[in-house]
Amino acid sequence: MAVPKRKTSPSRRGMRRSHHALRTEAHAECGNCGELKRPHHVCSHCGHYDGREVVAAGKALKVAVRQ
Ligand SMILES: [Zn+2]
Repeated sequence: MAVPKRKTSPSRRGMRRSHHALRTEAHAECGNCGELKRPHHVCSHCGHYDGREVVAAGKALKVAVRQ
């Protein structure tokens, strides 16, 4: 088994983890109900997308819980 020759220093470890920060998730206001929703996604509150109802309101909640 390949084994690292040296212990990773706190500095190296910090440099590696400098990319690990979480970014704030993009959000936009729903044009129909005004609730915050993810851009280019069906509104999880009212089920609207592009000005029309795509999914029955309420049902979309169960599908779009991933955020
Ligand atoms: Zn909406």
